[in-house]
Amino acid sequence: MALRLHDTLTGEKREFEPLEPGKVKMYVCGVTPYDKSHLGHARCYVAWDVVYRYLKFAGYEVTYVRNFTDVDDKIIKRANERGMDPLALAQENIDFFYADMDALGIARPDLEPRVSGTIDEIIAMVQRLIDNGLAYAVDGDVYYAVDAFSDYGKLSKRPLDDLRAGARVEINEAKRNPMDFALWKSAKPGEPTWDSPWGPGRPGWHIECSAMSTTHLGDTFDIHGGGRDLIFPHHENEIAQSEGAVGHACVNYWLHNGFINIDDEKMSKSLGNFFTISDVCARYTPTTLRYFLMTARHYRGPINFSDAMLEEAAGRVAYIYETLLTVKAFLRETADLPHFTGPLPHGEVAEGLAAKFVEAMDDDFSVPRAMDPIWEALRALNELASTRKAARKPAAATAAGLIMAAIETLDAVLNLFGHDPEAYLAEHRALAASRRDLAPAWIEERLEARRAARAARLWAEADGIRDELAACGVVLMDRGNGSTDWAIEEKAPEGALDDVDAGDLDA
Ligand SMILES: [Zn+2]
Repeated sequence: MALRLHDTLTGEKREFEPLEPGKVKMYVCGVTPYDKSHLGHARCYVAWDVVYRYLKFAGYEVTYVRNFTDVDDKIIKRANERGMDPLALAQENIDFFYADMDALGIARPDLEPRVSGTIDEIIAMVQRLIDNGLAYAVDGDVYYAVDAFSDYGKLSKRPLDDLRAGARVEINEAKRNPMDFALWKSAKPGEPTWDSPWGPGRPGWHIECSAMSTTHLGDTFDIHGGGRDLIFPHHENEIAQSEGAVGHACVNYWLHNGFINIDDEKMSKSLGNFFTISDVCARYTPTTLRYFLMTARHYRGPINFSDAMLEEAAGRVAYIYETLLTVKAFLRETADLPHFTGPLPHGEVAEGLAAKFVEAMDDDFSVPRAMDPIWEALRALNELASTRKAARKPAAATAAGLIMAAIETLDAVLNLFGHDPEAYLAEHRALAASRRDLAPAWIEERLEARRAARAARLWAEADGIRDELAACGVVLMDRGNGSTDWAIEEKAPEGALDDVDAGDLDA
C-alpha cells in the first residue's frame, strides 16, 4: 500500500505521487508572532511535524518551508502599545515560539522565511498580477480583482456570489468588488514601510505565502498544509494569487488540520478558556501534550481538550516511561546472556510492528491507529521484562531487544520515547503532585515521619500517615530494601482516548 492523502481541493483521498521521484516539497502557514503561541498552534504544528517526520521516514528527501508573518496589523498595534519596534516585538515572540516548539519535540522546518525578508519577491508578484490583469492600484494600495479569477472559491467550495452575500463588507470605495483583497497597503503613520512602484507601504497578509512558497519551492510543489480556519479566505486568496501569477495550479495536495475545542467550546479569550502552550506545559509535561495532540484524533478531525483527557494522556505517557524503565533494567541485567536463535516469545510483535504502523500512517497519517501496534508492543515488553525463570531469560531478552529496536526506529516519526525514563517519571510525578496542590517536600516530610513511627513500632501512627497521604491521592510503595517510594494515584481512564477514529471528519 502506498501513502494516500486527503486533498481538500478535490475532497478525495488519493495516492501520493511526488512531482519529482523521491522528493517532497511542502509548505505550511506559520504564525503571526504578536503574542505567545496557544493550544491551536500546538495542535497545528505537532500535526505537520508528524507529517514531515513520516515523509522523511518513508524515504523522501523533504523540503519543508514554514513562514513567519512578522509584518502584520496585530504586530504593529501591539508594538505601538508597548512603544516597541514591530520587528523587535515579532522577534521576541518568535523566540517564545521556538521554546514552545522545541519543548513539544517539533523539528525545525528546512526554511523559515519572514515577510520582512521577502519584500522584493512580494513586490514582483504583485506587479505580475497587475500585468496579468488580476490586480489594480488605487492611491498607493493594490487590490486583487476577484472577478477576474474565474476559479475563485474552488477550495472553500463556495461561489463568489455566496461569499459576497455572507461577507461583512467594509466600506471601501476604492474596491471594485467588496471581496477584492489588499495585496499592498499604502504607508500609514506609525507603520513599517518599504518602497514600491505604487509608493511606500507594506504587503497585505495573503500575498506573502504565495511569494514565499513559489520562491522557495517553485511554481508547482507537492503539499500545502495549514489549519482549517485558513481555507477561507487565506488559502482561497493564495490560490488566486499564485495561479494568477504563474498561470497554472501550484499545489498538488492541500491538507488541513482540524480545530481544537476546549470542553466542547471554541477556545477564545472572551470565553476565558484560552490556553497558551506554556500555560499547559506548566501543568503537564510537553511530551504529554504532544502525545495527546497526536493521538486524540486524526489530524483532520476536531479535538476536544479537557483536563480529564490531558490527565489520562499523562497517565499513558507515564506508562510508556515506566515500561521503558523496566525494560531497560531487564536488558541491562540480561546483557551478558547469549543471543537466542529459536522461536521468540512475542516474536510476531517484533516482526509485525513496523508494517502495522506504516499501514496506518500510509492511510492519510492515521496516528491514532498507528499507536495500536505500539501499545501492543509495550504490553509485550512488560511481559517479557517480568520473565523470572533463568532458562527463559535469553529468549525474553532477545525478543525485548528486537521490540525496543523497532520502537526506537518508529520513534523517528513519533518523537515520544527519547527522554531518560527516570528523569521523565520524576518530572511527571512532580507535576502530578502539583496539580493536586501537593508539594513533594511535604510528602517527603510525611514519609520521614512514617519511617520514624515504624522504627519506634508506633504502628497506628504509621498507618495514620499512610491514610492521610492516601486521602490526598498519594500511593505508597514499600520496597524490599526498607525504603518507600510514592506516586500520585492515576485517575481511572474515562475511555475518551479510546474513541479515536477518523470518521465524520467534515462534520
Ligand atoms: Zn499562509
